[in-house]
Amino acid sequence: MKKVILVTGASRGIGNNIVRSLANNNIVIANYNKSVEQAIKLKEDMQEKQVDIDIIKADVSNREEVNSMVSTIIEKYGKIDVLINNAGISQYKLFTDISDEDWDIVMNNNLKSVFITTQEVLKSMIPRKEGLIINISSVWGVTGAAMEVAYSTSKAGIIGLTKSLAKELGPSNIRVNAIAPGIINTEMNNKFSKEEIDNIKEEIPLERIGEPGEISKCIKWLMEDNYTTGQVISINGGWNI
Ligand code: NAP
Repeated sequence: MKKVILVTGASRGIGNNIVRSLANNNIVIANYNKSVEQAIKLKEDMQEKQVDIDIIKADVSNREEVNSMVSTIIEKYGKIDVLINNAGISQYKLFTDISDEDWDIVMNNNLKSVFITTQEVLKSMIPRKEGLIINISSVWGVTGAAMEVAYSTSKAGIIGLTKSLAKELGPSNIRVNAIAPGIINTEMNNKFSKEEIDNIKEEIPLERIGEPGEISKCIKWLMEDNYTTGQVISINGGWNI
């Protein structure tokens, strides 16, 4: 049966691939914020394949915008079966250079967004006693990264939220899991030179960086599964074992 799936941050990168890989057999709503052209292109590309998706703009760090987005989806489809909290931003700075504003931007976009979107979706998910929430963390949320303290902290926060919420929502038959990708081939890593990427590859046992589709495959598996909750699934080519 077709699931109603909301993917946040789907205009580009991993979220964009998740939409493309799930839309064939499901009802997929692709959230975006700034990249309107990419979101429209995603919808047009899918239309060419005779697949209809919804695109919907909302800054997921803003409660009112998320409330309005979720209400629109519930009015149209009556439910959300799967929430994929994927939206996120990176920040590359020496810890001593991080301003209060820098810190808040990362926490709001990466962590508060998960808090807000999950709460809004749960209003209709808990009464139905069925659902799946997948949060995109990062290898840096597990191990920590120099020059990315705010980012790593936000992604570690997602892991704490995932584990705690899985315990709270288990009795409501709602599973909550996190995926912790290693380095994945998206615009987020444009800050690294080719030489830096090559150096990273040397540290990865599988000797390559990951592709967005490798995250989508894990999401498909989590949608088929019924007994996994509170877990952090690392997809990183063995970079962190
Ligand atoms: P990306 O290519 O930079 O795309 C980020 C996406 O997030 C964009 O679609 C962007 O939408 C959206 N976004 C950011 N802030 C938003 C907000 N406030 N509201 C709505 N959408 C927002 O990054 P990516 O590599 O695909 O990353 C996706 C997720 O995977 C992130 O959470 C990231 O931290 C995580 N991750 C990535 C890697 C990696 O190596 N790429 C590794 C580990 C974890 P707009 O452009 O429309 O604003």
